[in-house]
Amino acid sequence: MKTALYPGSFDPVTYGHLDIIKRASLMFDKVIVAVMCNSAKTPLFTLDERVKMLEESVKDLDNVIIESFDGLLINYCKEKNIHIVIRGLRAITDFEYELQIAQTNKELSHNEVDTVFLTTNLKYSYLSSSVVKEIASYNGDITPCVPPSIADKLYKKFGYTRT
Ligand code: ADP
Repeated sequence: MKTALYPGSFDPVTYGHLDIIKRASLMFDKVIVAVMCNSAKTPLFTLDERVKMLEESVKDLDNVIIESFDGLLINYCKEKNIHIVIRGLRAITDFEYELQIAQTNKELSHNEVDTVFLTTNLKYSYLSSSVVKEIASYNGDITPCVPPSIADKLYKKFGYTRT
């Protein structure tokens, strides 16, 4: 059985992430989406909130499960016996950072962990969790960026009520 791990902060999950998850779910027998709790930045949503938002967003995908982890990604992969990590690429700026992380993980894992890159769907190439939070913080329209229930939670975080 081919299992792949898709790690990230998902603060919050966007349509860009969901597109990657759906496509990965067609390529692998099982996809574990792993929410990182050791993010360098202070997240807007708690780990529990981020996990719950993902669970709700992927409930129709039978072979996708949501988990969370702390510490080094390669240790988590070893613990779960996973050899494939998925990451999304939006632009050349993602590539430089992602390549370095992928090579680090390959080295640290003694070639046990490889990274598979999925390129963004063009309609979501501008999307990032940071951009979505920025728009929501000014009460802007985030309906093209995240599912409705997540948009509600974002507006609530910034003190807005929308109908
Ligand atoms: P980070 O680990 O940098 O906090 P995120 O949680 O925001 O990253 O994203 C996890 C992964 O999803 C990263 O590989 C990122 O490049 C990818 N990703 C984020 N937004 C998109 C998008 N709109 N299209 C494709 N991939 C994306």
